[in-house]
Amino acid sequence: MPYAYDDQNIFAKILRGEIPSTPVFESEHTLAFPDITPQKKAHILVIPKGPYRCFDHFVLAASPAEQLDFFASVAKVAEQIGVAESAGGQGFRLITNSGEHSHQEVPHFHVHLLGGEPCGPLTCK
Ligand code: AMP
Repeated sequence: MPYAYDDQNIFAKILRGEIPSTPVFESEHTLAFPDITPQKKAHILVIPKGPYRCFDHFVLAASPAEQLDFFASVAKVAEQIGVAESAGGQGFRLITNSGEHSHQEVPHFHVHLLGGEPCGPLTCK
């Protein structure tokens, strides 16, 4: 499988407790914490605890239990921080970058959960 995982990436260090973070949510397979440079009023990163480089690696290699836990956790965080409709919020955007063209900076799969204000156009040129 062409997805080498570098365990020295910053999110791997957060998972090992080598770099501090302030988790807003944790489950058996998933962790969520605020982005250090928030792009919207609400900007949470949701990551699997397992060693997956990007979305496609995660879907190909993670167990069904990890995948179910991850996507359910994203929804729980959206509800917990009040951006989901189920919590009376006005919606949110999920972004995940995969590989060079996406400009992925941290090579550990993560979803950006953005909201708390309008998110604007989908992409820039
Ligand atoms: P991406 O470009 O999709 O790989 O996004 C990586 C994100 O990680 C960026 O939005 C950074 O602000 C964020 N980030 C980098 N280091 C940390 C950290 N120590 N704690 C929280 N977020 C971080």
